[in-house]
Amino acid sequence: DIKLANRVQRVKPSPTLAVTAKAAELRAAGKDIIGLGAGEPDFDTPEHIRDAAITAINEGETRYTPVDGTPALKKAVINKFKRENGLDYDGKQVLVSSGAKHSLYNLMCALLNEGDEVIIPAPYWVSYPDMAKLADAEPVIIEAGQEQGFKITPEQLEGAITDRTRLFVINSPSNPTGSAYSKAELAALGEVLKKHPQIVVVTDDIYEHILFEGEFVNIVNACPELKDRTVVVNGVSKAYAMTGWRVGYAAGPEALIGAMKKIQSQSTSNPASVSQAASVAALDGDQGCIPPMLEQFKKRHDFVVDALNKIDGVECRPCEGTFYCFPNMQGAIDKLDGVGNDVELAGFLLEQGVALVPGSAFGLEGYARISFATSMENLEKAMERIAKALG
Ligand code: PLP
Repeated sequence: DIKLANRVQRVKPSPTLAVTAKAAELRAAGKDIIGLGAGEPDFDTPEHIRDAAITAINEGETRYTPVDGTPALKKAVINKFKRENGLDYDGKQVLVSSGAKHSLYNLMCALLNEGDEVIIPAPYWVSYPDMAKLADAEPVIIEAGQEQGFKITPEQLEGAITDRTRLFVINSPSNPTGSAYSKAELAALGEVLKKHPQIVVVTDDIYEHILFEGEFVNIVNACPELKDRTVVVNGVSKAYAMTGWRVGYAAGPEALIGAMKKIQSQSTSNPASVSQAASVAALDGDQGCIPPMLEQFKKRHDFVVDALNKIDGVECRPCEGTFYCFPNMQGAIDKLDGVGNDVELAGFLLEQGVALVPGSAFGLEGYARISFATSMENLEKAMERIAKALG
């Protein structure tokens, strides 16, 4: 037997895997399963972005690039932050990685030591706690249920901070809840963080453009005093339907970005050259490709939230953004014989032909995550099946 590293034992296999595996098994057995688990837009990458990649291939942009990104892409990222977020960075404060996920992983590896604590609001994106553990640190979870809009309060944040806290993670609009913090709410969290200068903040802005109303703000916009200890993470995956291209980026204090670059230089080097060329076209090009996708997501959101709220035992808060919603399923769990929790409910609904991810996978029991990154036709069928199964 090969003895594996301790860090492997620390990371739990995702509870979503059970549902995904069961869905595949049922499909293979000929059952009709509608998947509401997707974490990516169902649209194709816009044509002008694909064309830029094809041109890059034909013009020989097929070699290693600088570790931290091509000059053209770094410039596009710097311009993006200035244009869309009102934030100024220079080249040494920006690192391009193979996805926002990779940026986040570089950050945790560059910042955390054994025993350090990372504050993560729940429901959370599944990778945050496990990344912290891979970097030898301890996730500290703050729960925020539907009654508080899935958003933590300043009091909760203050209560979770210890002298070992090194990092605070914020993701708004949020996967899995679709909730977004207002500028005032972010400013209030910022007031707490201002009192604790040892804490680095990371804002994961990957769903920035999938926001149904109002203007996007992050914690640096709300509390500019935090800029010199905040890392802003973003990427092209969700806004431009580019999940497979694997390009994300981070901006923040030079020393920390430099440390992240050092780790990247000894692990993965530069992100794919062709994908970087495509990302330049995405960030610098016509932004008119975003609103039609947003409009589709909003239409589907309205339909799904309305349909869910008509089902007895299901309660769904309308979202501010993303292509997910996070209904409270506790009423349905309570009334179904043989279903004792959200994982069993997901198993039960799978038998009825709908695959969704239980809330406990995201750190909050009694809920489910539904992705509406699928066709209206599929969503209509899926809502009918859920209504019938729970009716
Ligand atoms: N952050 C959040 C909250 C996400 O939901 C995802 C993707 O699911 C990512 C980061 C990763 O995005 P990328 O494709 O850029 O690695």
